[in-house]
Formats: sequence, structure tokens, C-alpha cells
Amino acid sequence: RQSIIKVALDVPLFKLFDYKLNKNCTFKLKKGCRVLVPFGKQKKVGIIIGFSNNTRIPSSKLRSFISIIDNEPILSMNDMKFISFASNYYQYPIGKVISAALPVQLKKGFPLISYIDQLSLTNHGKACSTSNLKKSAPKQAELLEILKIKVRLNEKDLNNLSPNWRRYYKGLIEKKLVKKDRVINNYRVNQKYIRPSSGPDLNSEQANAVNTIINEKKFKTFLIDGVTGSGKTEVYLHLIKNTLKNDKQCLILVPEIGLTSQFINRIIKRIGLIPHQFHSSCTENEKFITWKAIRDSKAEIVLGTRSAIFSPFKNLGIIIVDEENDVSYKQQEGFRYSARDLAIIKAKHCNIPVILGSATPSIESINQCKKNIYTKLQLTERAGEAKLPSMHLIDINKNKTKDGISDLLLKTMNEHLKKNGQILVFVNRRGYAPTLICKSCNHIEKCKRCDSRMTVYQSKNSLICHHCGSKEKLKTSCHVCGSEYIALGQGTQRIESALNKHFSSEWIMRIDSDSTKSKGSLDKALEAAKSGTAKILIGTQMLSKGHHFSSLTLVAIINADQGLFSNDFRGSERLAQSITQVAGRAGRENKKGQVLIQTEYPDHPFWETLFKGGYKNAIRLILEERKQTGWPPYSYIALLRTESHQKKFTWEFLKKSKLILSSNNSTIDILGPVSAPMEKKAGKYRGQLLLQSNNRKILNHCISSFIQEIESKKITRRVKWSLDIDPIELF
Ligand code: ADP
Ligand code: ZN
Ligand code: ZN
Repeated sequence: RQSIIKVALDVPLFKLFDYKLNKNCTFKLKKGCRVLVPFGKQKKVGIIIGFSNNTRIPSSKLRSFISIIDNEPILSMNDMKFISFASNYYQYPIGKVISAALPVQLKKGFPLISYIDQLSLTNHGKACSTSNLKKSAPKQAELLEILKIKVRLNEKDLNNLSPNWRRYYKGLIEKKLVKKDRVINNYRVNQKYIRPSSGPDLNSEQANAVNTIINEKKFKTFLIDGVTGSGKTEVYLHLIKNTLKNDKQCLILVPEIGLTSQFINRIIKRIGLIPHQFHSSCTENEKFITWKAIRDSKAEIVLGTRSAIFSPFKNLGIIIVDEENDVSYKQQEGFRYSARDLAIIKAKHCNIPVILGSATPSIESINQCKKNIYTKLQLTERAGEAKLPSMHLIDINKNKTKDGISDLLLKTMNEHLKKNGQILVFVNRRGYAPTLICKSCNHIEKCKRCDSRMTVYQSKNSLICHHCGSKEKLKTSCHVCGSEYIALGQGTQRIESALNKHFSSEWIMRIDSDSTKSKGSLDKALEAAKSGTAKILIGTQMLSKGHHFSSLTLVAIINADQGLFSNDFRGSERLAQSITQVAGRAGRENKKGQVLIQTEYPDHPFWETLFKGGYKNAIRLILEERKQTGWPPYSYIALLRTESHQKKFTWEFLKKSKLILSSNNSTIDILGPVSAPMEKKAGKYRGQLLLQSNNRKILNHCISSFIQEIESKKITRRVKWSLDIDPIELF
């Protein structure tokens, strides 16, 4: 019998922790069970990862664990395999990865199975009438009457039906009318909701996609490359139905919470089941219940954002990743995983098909199709009668704008409104204006804690930094020369107030992260947008993808120009995606759509590429460019990010790191150190090293030996550092 258990703890260290197994310990410990262990002066909940006979810890310092929490593993072998893959691949401590995978209650050591109180009628209680009781103890009589309808009620139901039941039930127990038990707290099991409707007949491309995937019973990655409105969701629904028919569970990932309600409604309508949801607007308790239902195969359809990929499925049959190119699938802090990429790993571990879908597939996925690693399924036309919208540029050098809006655009908007069409005005910045500038000396108001401009919020009479949240009072005169300050550029709020002047009789609705902060407000706004009652929608990225607005006929892009001159190598891919996606909101049903893009650079080659050959053509050229420059997907990259309150520590750390990395004698390229383009953020100085290689294994290996070495160095105490594997934002 082995004498040491190896435990993963939720601490930012890469190692496992050893604890002694007492000889007289009678229960059998298993991998995947939780234990309570001493950690310094604290107690911590950990997960058993393995057993061993030896440890590096001297026996005088080796401590015993305190107690065992689970008799059976809470995570299966398959879950553990997936978690260790993620930990190795993203070079993130396994205890922290497990922490990302577990509901809060389990991390705190709560039991997996919980019990609640239940009241039920005794035989005596069933027979007894309440009329006598009514005079002597009216409240008891009331509670008894409620129980007479249901016979048995648990504490959750009682809290609803009779909030003060705890004050009165004891009297009923004394009279032997009622008894109280502890019962297992069950979660909601999917029940049939409504009779599903049959939906449209699939066209031949859709049918081909469905059949190809259904016939593949094993692991395979499919890319559904379907233009906006081509009926991808319809294909997913058929796949879900088929998976349920085989008694397997479905996992559907969407990039943002805003896209869940639309999907859920379609699933309810067409499949007749209420899916389980797993995302950040669920409460911890809801997440815990869903987690357990998934683990017991009781949750048949699970729809969630990024973190749902860590759910403990027992019997998974398919994974669908909608809008696979979306940056939201990559976590941008802490454990920087890509849920899309992990979905493929999970499908491989479960030996099931995984479906990536998008109207604007990522360059990585397109490249995998070219290499025949993924199977591409195309939907080339819009479903039903709908046609793709026409696209035109408005040259704002010739068509002068006022408050960011040209006369030509106003005129077109009027035409669409007259025909009762809905309009989406896309502005990629929130607030009133992105810049406050002095009329005479050109001084710009900057954030004191960041290298960034302050955004003007006219309505709040303030200046806010979008990077650190700093807030100041709006100034009217320049603090350098005293001249007048003016707000430069357009944010959603400025466009909103300008349009309010032009279209005072229309319902104009702005939807951005400022307007949808309170719980439920986003769903409400989207409802008004979808019903078509809000005639003019003003929105950021939030509105630009995935949504189906049936009466929307005009999309206006106020200013796409910043995207043209991005210095990130992914800039043009992103621009092509966001323009194609937002354009795809127009004309999704029987009325033809139109897209107008205001630009100062109508001759920029990007436009011709996109207009002549569409997204496919743009991507073909971008892929060509990447090949020549050696950027991903033609290489693998990782970013070592560092920040500190003192610039010299940031640089000291990065220089030391470069030394360690290059002495490892490997073939990887190390670029930097350089300071981050926004060097100062929230008062900290940031810098980075870019690591690049043609070989993923070598890069991974090199980084893990680097981590082992750097962890013991003193300089790590003076900085905050992190590794980003496959970063999607370099800056
Ligand atoms: P996507 O997910 O590709 O954006 P959707 O599945 O939302 O597309 O389909 C767009 C619209 O076309 C929806 O209103 C949908 O009901 C309709 N639709 C989808 N497939 C068909 C079909 N085969 N015949 C008729 N209408 C369809
Ligand atoms: Zn000035
Ligand atoms: Zn700031």
C-alpha cells in the first residue's frame, strides 16, 4: 500500500502537494476524490491526483491530511485526463485548472449530494380535518391545508407556498399530523415542455451536412462554413435531435450570453426540451445543480459559454461550437484557454464528432480544412427565399458628415423607414466620444493611470477610462492653454443623440455594455429589437453577430477605418469578420438587405478584396500573407506577459527570462523584450516576450522547463507574470 497522496490545490504553484496516508486509515482513497488538507496555517480542499511511495519532503515536515470529503471520485478518469491535458497545454497549474472546472460549492468542500427538509402528512394527518385546528392554531391549520393538497413538500416548495412554515410545523409534528425527513435535494430533470414543431425542410446543402455528420460515429472535426442566414442553426437542431435519439448528451457553446436566449427558444420550439444553461448569469447554486445533472446524464442538452466546456459529461454525443471564430472563446486572463480548441480535445477523448460553425471561419480552421484535418461542409446560399445584402461604401471625403453621419446615409435611412424596414447602426465604440481634444493646442485628455485616452460621457458629465475604469469630471477648458475642449470622434451615445434629432418620431434603441448593465436588461432590449418595434438599433459588437432580426433591411457602419490600420497581424482577419458578420444581419427574411459603410479610405485595397470575392477571397489573401511572414497558422506562438509597478522590475524579469529561455539550447525564436503598446495600464508597467516555433512540442517543452527554473527566482516576487499559449491578442 502506498503511503503518500499527491494532491492538487487551488494555489498559483505548478507542483502537486504531498500528504501522509496514516497506516490505520481504513477507507480506500481514490483519484478524483476531494480531501481536506493542512496548508500552512490554513485548511484547504484539494483533489487527489495520484499515490506514491516517496516524496522529497523530509519526514519531519510531511503532514497528514485532515479528512476525506468524497467516497467516490467527483471527477471521472475522463474528466481528469481532459483537465491534465489543459493544464499541460496551457502551462497552467493543475489545481487552478481544476478550480475552473468545479462549482464553488465543491471547492468549498460542500458534499456532492445535499439534503433538504421535507414535510409529509402522516396517516393521522391525512385523515384529520383542519376545521378543529382552525380556531386553536390557525397558522398550523393553514400549513396543514397546503400539505393536504400535495401530501409531501420539500423546503424549497414550502418557502414559496408558506414562507413562515418553520414557525408552525413543530406543533403539527407534536400532534403527529406531520413528519419531517431529510431527503436528497434533487435537481430539475428535463421535462417535455411543448410539442415540438417540425421546422422547414432542409435544402440539399443542409441535408448533406446533417447526413455527413450523422454518419460519422467517431471523433471528427467538422467545419460548417455557411454564409450568414444559411440555416446553420437549423442543421444544429437536426444534429441535436439525432443525438438525443441515441440517448446521448449534447453540448452547445455560444460565444456570448446575449446569444443564449435566441438559441434556447429555438431548441424549446423545435426539440420540446428546455436546455440546461451554464454561463455567468447563472447563480452559483444554479451552476452547481446543472453540474450535477450533467454528471448524472440527466441534463440532455447543455447550452453555455466558454466555461461549460469543463462540465463533467458522462455520456456526451456531440459538441457544437457556434461562431467558432469569436474571440470570446479565448479566456483573456488567468487560465487563458480556448474553449473552441479544448472542445476538439474533449471530442477526441470522448471519440465523438465536434462541429465548428461560422459564416466567417477563423483562419486556423480554414487552414485545418485545407490540410484535410477538419472536414468542411459548405452552405453557400441563404436559406429559404432570403438573399445576401448588397454592399456599398460612402466616401466621407465627398459626403461630409455631421456628428459622424453623412447626408447620403440619412437619406437612405429615411427610405428604409418608409418601407417599414428596421435599421442597425454599427458603432464600435461606446460612450459619447473617444477623445477630448483642445481646439488650439491639440492637447488630449489622457488617463493618469494608463497610456490611453479618456472617453467622453456627456450624459454623466464625466470622463471615463475604458481600460482601468478611472472617472473624472468632464472638463470644458484645456488645462495646458485654457482654450476650449471639444469631443472628437463618435461613440454610440453621440450617434444616438444625433439620430434622435433626425428621427424624433421613431423608437431608437442603443444596445451596448453601458446600456445593458443591469440583470435582464439585455434580454429585454433584444426582445424589442427582434420584434421590430424598435426601428433604429444602435449597437457595438454585441449586436453584430449571431442575431436574427427578421425585419432588418439596412446596416450602416459608421466608421470602419481604425480596423484598416491595425498593427496586430490579426487585424485584417478581424476586420473582414466583423464587417461580414454585421452585414449579415441585413435582409435575413423576404426583404432584400443593404449595407452602407462610411470610410475616409475608399481606395484601400481591403475593400476591393472584400467586395469582389467576399470573405473567402479576403481570407485567401490573408493566408498567403501569413505564409510569407510566418505568423500562425504557419507557426506556433506564446506570449510571456509581465507587469509591475516599477518599470525596471518588468524589464529585469523579461531579460532574465530571455536568458533562461535561450540557454535551453532550443530552436525557438524569442522576440523582445518589448514594452506593451499600451505600456502603462492601471498604474502598472507592462512588457512582453514573444516565443515562436514551427514545432508545437518543442515550444511547449521549452516553456515548461522555463517555468520550473523561473519559479524559484527572486525577481518573480516583484512582478506579475503570465503565459499566454496561442494568444489571440498580441498587445
Ligand atoms: P444561421 O444560423 O446560418 O444564421 P438560421 O438557421 O438562423 O441561419 O436560418 C436563417 C433563417 O432561415 C431562419 O429564419 C430559419 O428559420 C430559416 N431557414 C433555415 N433553413 C431553412 C430552410 N431549409 N428552408 C426555409 N427556411 C430556412
Ligand atoms: Zn490647449
Ligand atoms: Zn486608465
